[in-house]
Amino acid sequence: MTSDLQGTQPWLLCDFHIHTRPWSDGEELLEKVVDLYGQSGFDAICITDHVVDSEYRRSCPNLSIAPADFGGYLEHLWQERRRAWELYRMLLIPGSEITNQTKGYHILAVDIKTYIDPDLEVETIIKEIHRQGGIAIACHPHRKDSDGAGASDNSRHLWNNHARFSDMFDAWEVANRDDLFNVVGLKKYRYIANGDFHCRRHLYSWKTLLRCEKNVEAIKQAIRDNINVSLYLYRERSHP
Ligand code: ZN
Ligand code: ZN
Repeated sequence: MTSDLQGTQPWLLCDFHIHTRPWSDGEELLEKVVDLYGQSGFDAICITDHVVDSEYRRSCPNLSIAPADFGGYLEHLWQERRRAWELYRMLLIPGSEITNQTKGYHILAVDIKTYIDPDLEVETIIKEIHRQGGIAIACHPHRKDSDGAGASDNSRHLWNNHARFSDMFDAWEVANRDDLFNVVGLKKYRYIANGDFHCRRHLYSWKTLLRCEKNVEAIKQAIRDNINVSLYLYRERSHP
């Protein structure tokens, strides 16, 4: 997208945290989401529908991918990955938000290959993501003030143990949709920023810019290196 500050490589506009229908609690169908991001000029997105811990799944069975459906989910993502590239030259990376609502940790697995059980401990989940060649992101690791009176602290376990987990994660969300987590910046953790997209208006939110080649391995390495990375607040265009 935009020209770079130093050097010649262009910056890639990315969002690594996106939910869809019918796979989890997004409002828009996967195909619609791909078209929306593609037509908005994004270079890379990661679809991260929820898998949830067994206790939470019993209370909300329709908000997440059932373990038995995970293969079908990945297949659907691979179909859309081809379409996204052909139509928009946009990379679609298969992912999941591994959500333990009961114990309080949400973890993004970017470039995931098989189902990972959210009942597992954080360390085990991160190791399994890495074993699959993916990268592990600590999701909204602090209180989300934008949730207003119901301010959520869904990843309280991650921040309560941040010193122990800091280097295990490839990066932490320093921004999620409208929230900025100053604590992540102050700790100087490796960071990215994501929209946590559930509906169309969430397109306009914090995003990540990466300066690297447009392929999955280069993008993962750029997140790990965390040097050519930048925050970007993507605004609605009032003029065409
Ligand atoms: Zn979450
Ligand atoms: Zn999410």
